[in-house]
Amino acid sequence: MKKIAVIGVGYVGLVTSTCFAELGNQVIGIDIDQKKIDNLNKGIIPIYEEGLTDLVKKNRKSGNLFFTTDITKAVKTSDIIFIAVGTPPMADGSVNLDYVKSVAESIGKAINGYKVIINKSTVPIGTGNIVKIIISKKYKGDFDVVSNPEFLKEGTAVSDFMNPDRIVVGTDSVKAQKIVNDLYASQNSTIINTDIKTAELIKYASNAFLATEISFINSIANICEKIGADVTKVSEGMKLDQRIGKKAFLNAGIGYGGSCFPKDVKGLIQIAHENNVRFSILDAVEDTNSAQKQSLIPKIQSLLGDDLHDKNITVWGLAFKPNTDDVREAPSLVIIKQLLDRNAKITVVDPIATEQAKLILGDTVIYEENLIKSVSGADCLIIATEWAEFKNVDLKQIKKAMKKANIVDGRNIFNKKEMKVFGFKYLSVGR
Ligand code: NAD
Repeated sequence: MKKIAVIGVGYVGLVTSTCFAELGNQVIGIDIDQKKIDNLNKGIIPIYEEGLTDLVKKNRKSGNLFFTTDITKAVKTSDIIFIAVGTPPMADGSVNLDYVKSVAESIGKAINGYKVIINKSTVPIGTGNIVKIIISKKYKGDFDVVSNPEFLKEGTAVSDFMNPDRIVVGTDSVKAQKIVNDLYASQNSTIINTDIKTAELIKYASNAFLATEISFINSIANICEKIGADVTKVSEGMKLDQRIGKKAFLNAGIGYGGSCFPKDVKGLIQIAHENNVRFSILDAVEDTNSAQKQSLIPKIQSLLGDDLHDKNITVWGLAFKPNTDDVREAPSLVIIKQLLDRNAKITVVDPIATEQAKLILGDTVIYEENLIKSVSGADCLIIATEWAEFKNVDLKQIKKAMKKANIVDGRNIFNKKEMKVFGFKYLSVGR
């Protein structure tokens, strides 16, 4: 049993602290957000993530998991300290390291003996060294810094954490490497041991590569639409090549969003720029993605005419992907804004993310819970997130409730032939 502190209990920190507690460690989760900590101590979980609520409750009850705002006490009583605070993008695309630096300052003030400081936040190359320098200015004793980027996916975060594809441990210290390797031993995964900078780069390279796959297949989808080919079959055909792989991120849609891909692509562009490396692929990935987020409007206009004023449009899906309540950089929000700019009347539905979306959309749209009611009198239905609930809907009832049977499917969730049989005017992506 290890004594662990996890600083920042957002998506990554809360999953990390809870899962390490579940694995038998004594874990303190720390955040500066007093309300978040109060709620967690009452068993109220700030995010939706499958299985997380039960695990938090169970481990709080067993005494393995505790939440506080007292970073000093947490640092003093722990041997292993994770940094899991946000690293949001700045206006120029570079990474805002203020939260990481502020945590390093607090650790430097509180540290009272040898500890391993593990950075889990996604940070630019060299940040491990910055953290080391900040702490050493305040503390002259022995400590080590490790880069241990996180690869969990929102929506499957708990199971990703417990069964990771790989674990990256970057450090120059043999002692710290052994401590962190041991900490992860029960996960039964491949551990890649590297230096700090390599570990930091593996995270950016992975996310930027996944984003590249998405923009690549979206460009193929755009060709498919011009020539009358089917992108889902192109993707299927590509994935059977073992060098590409069955799980390749080749699903055409309305672009990537979320808190990671947009930020990390920008972050890697900035890293390349600072190091005088030409990495024009990434500029194209970004360009393609923002164009893709605009691509539904012409499709909607081809069904409803150019003037969308007062048209009743229903949007299914607000979260940037299914099984999460995260709406950060969600394509749905871009589409809704474009429709509101054209004075359309918007009704939205999302199984989980409505409360988060309300913080951004306020009263500019109508919120509905029931799928059939949401399309009552609608001129067009748009699919913006591929929630399973949407795929299994009774299409007969949907058609009956709509004023006009128009569907623009930004996630290719429906079968094209079936939609024709039901009598919908149906447009999707690259098919
Ligand atoms: P988040 O915004 O959900 O959570 C960050 C938390 O840190 C917040 O609760 C905030 O209050 C807290 N915080 C900020 N300053 C603090 C301080 N000084 N002391 C204590 N707490 C503080 O962020 P997230 O989505 O969990 O991401 C965290 C990091 O992990 C980022 O670098 C992100 O890129 C990376 N990451 C995220 C994901 C993901 O799916 N969300 C996956 C892998 C990696």
